[in-house]
Amino acid sequence: MEMQKIYNFSAGPAVLAEDVLKQAAEAAVNYDGHGMSILEMSHRSAPIVDMVTETRQLIRQLLNVPENYKILFLQGGASLQFSMIPMNILKDGETVDYTETGVWSVKAIKEAQRYGNVNVVSSSRESVYNHIQKDFKQSTDQVYLHVTSNNTIYGTQWQKFPEANGFLVGDMSSDIFSRPIDVSQFGVIYAGAQKNMGPAGVTMVIIRDNLIGRSGRDLPAMLDFAIHADKDSMFNTPPVFAIYVVNRTLHWLKALGGVESMHVQNKSKAKFLYDEIERNPLFTSPILVEDRSLMNVPFIFANGGDEPHFLNYCTERGLLTLKGHRSVGGFRASIYNAMPKEGVEALVDAMQNYT
Ligand SMILES: *Cc1c(COP(=O)(O)O)cnc(C)c1O
Repeated sequence: MEMQKIYNFSAGPAVLAEDVLKQAAEAAVNYDGHGMSILEMSHRSAPIVDMVTETRQLIRQLLNVPENYKILFLQGGASLQFSMIPMNILKDGETVDYTETGVWSVKAIKEAQRYGNVNVVSSSRESVYNHIQKDFKQSTDQVYLHVTSNNTIYGTQWQKFPEANGFLVGDMSSDIFSRPIDVSQFGVIYAGAQKNMGPAGVTMVIIRDNLIGRSGRDLPAMLDFAIHADKDSMFNTPPVFAIYVVNRTLHWLKALGGVESMHVQNKSKAKFLYDEIERNPLFTSPILVEDRSLMNVPFIFANGGDEPHFLNYCTERGLLTLKGHRSVGGFRASIYNAMPKEGVEALVDAMQNYT
C-alpha cells in the first residue's frame, strides 16, 4: 500500500524541505564523514566553525547583505529580540515608532516601552488586524520605525515597506527568504528560524555595524550585540544543529534559484489558493486584498459551517494543521517556501470537493 502523502500547513514550527530533513537525519548520526554525530561535535572544531561561517556567507549572498552589516545567530527566539533591539540601540528618553499590525507587534511594542518613548503610529487593532494601516505620520525625532513584515496569525504582509524617518527595524520571522528585500533600508532585521528558514532554536539577526553598542548601556553579556558580533556568535555554545538545518535549507533555496525564484513560486502558490477562496461560495477571506500574505492564508466559512468537520475531512486527506489561530478561528494555511505547489493543489482540490 502506498503511504498517504502528508502536507503540513502549520504556522510554525513549520514544513521543511524533505531533502533537508534527510540530510539532517544523516548528520545526526554521522556528520559529513567525521564518524561522529553533529550533536556531539564541539562548536570550536574546524568542521563546525566552517559550517557556521558558510551559513553566514550564504545569508549574505542570498539576501545581498551589505558589508557593513553583521549577521548573528542567537537564541531566545524573535521574542528576545523584541527587548534586545531597543535595549542595545535606544538611549534613555529617545523616541521610536511602532506599527501595530498583530499580536507579535503588540509584544514588540510592550518590550520597547521599557527602553524608550514608543509611539504606536499605526494600528489596525479595531478591525482585528484584517489589514495594515499604511497611512500614518511618523515622529520627527524617531530613531527607528518597527514593522512586522508578515503577520503570521492574521495573514497580512507589507507589500512595500514604508520609508522611515530614521531607519527600519523589521521582524521577518515568517517571511524571511520568501522574497527579495533591500537590506540597506533596515538598521536591523531579525527572524526566528522556525517559520521559513529552519528549526526552532536559532534566531538570525542582521544588524548595521554602527548600531551595535549605540545605547551605551551596561548590558549582560548574553544580551549584548557587541559581544556576539565580536565573537562571531560563538561567545557561548551556539545551537549548532539548528544552524546546520538552516545551512541545508539555504543550499536548497540557492539551488532553486534563490529568493527571486522563491518569490515567483510563492506568488503562484498563494494566487492559486486565494483564487479558490474567491471562487468557492463556501469560503471567504477576512483579509483586505491588497495586504494579503503570500505565507499565511487565513480563510473562513462564508455562511457558517462545521469547522471541526472540515478540519477532520482535511486530516483524512493528509492535509494537516489547518486550524486558524485561536484568536481568529476558521482556517489558516501556511504555505512557506518549503510547501510544495502540490500541497496547495491538494488543499484546493479538497476545498472543491467539500460539501
Ligand atoms: C513566531 C513569530 C514570533 C515569535 O518567535 P519566537 O521565535 O517563538 O520567539 C515573532 N514574530 C513573528 C512575526 C512570528 O511569526
